[in-house]
Amino acid sequence: MGQAGWDALGLLTPKDYTSHFKNIMHHRILLRSVQPFKGSSRCRCCRTGIENTKHLATCLKLMKVWTKFHAMVTSLMGSAPLTPELIFHAVDTEGQILPPGLSALHLIMWKFVIYNLTMVQLENRPFNPEEVWKCAIRRFEVRLNALAFKVKQRAIRRSGQGINLMSPEAENRRMRPLASVGMWGKLYPSSELEKEFKSTRQVPTVPTAAAGQAQT
Ligand SMILES: [Zn+2]
Repeated sequence: MGQAGWDALGLLTPKDYTSHFKNIMHHRILLRSVQPFKGSSRCRCCRTGIENTKHLATCLKLMKVWTKFHAMVTSLMGSAPLTPELIFHAVDTEGQILPPGLSALHLIMWKFVIYNLTMVQLENRPFNPEEVWKCAIRRFEVRLNALAFKVKQRAIRRSGQGINLMSPEAENRRMRPLASVGMWGKLYPSSELEKEFKSTRQVPTVPTAAAGQAQT
């Protein structure tokens, strides 16, 4: 893993990235093409395609999550095609991993995708792409605030001790290009991210899909 990858992890906790590592990087996701459900290999989200790895990148239901992420990537990085590599591994067409902030959001997105795919299987709960995206954005906001809070605590401590404040350079590298934090821990989300934060606050949400987001 390159520096960008390590910086992305620095923004997260294991419960944000373990799901993607286990299910996607290590291919442990249990799809219906491998283990049919009630005799069917049809996709649990759209109920039309055969649920295999390739289908995950083209499924019309899942596509609503991928296009949200893709829009965020292109608004910050310039136009880029929505490829399976981007969807599965946050890697661009040149084989470069996305900057840390976007890579971190990608891992969180997958955490909620996998959780909700499991809930379709276990509780027959319909897959709701809008809700998945909102949960990912909310969790991402929690992690950004946690990092900003750390910077603030450090600034207060150092100021109390009469020593110079530290530049939050390392923290800013982890959030790049989605947000940055000031010397005193004030969080500055990019305008694209701010729009997403606002939209998650406006619409009432289904609490049952909010897996793990209350914890940090
Ligand atoms: Zn499907």
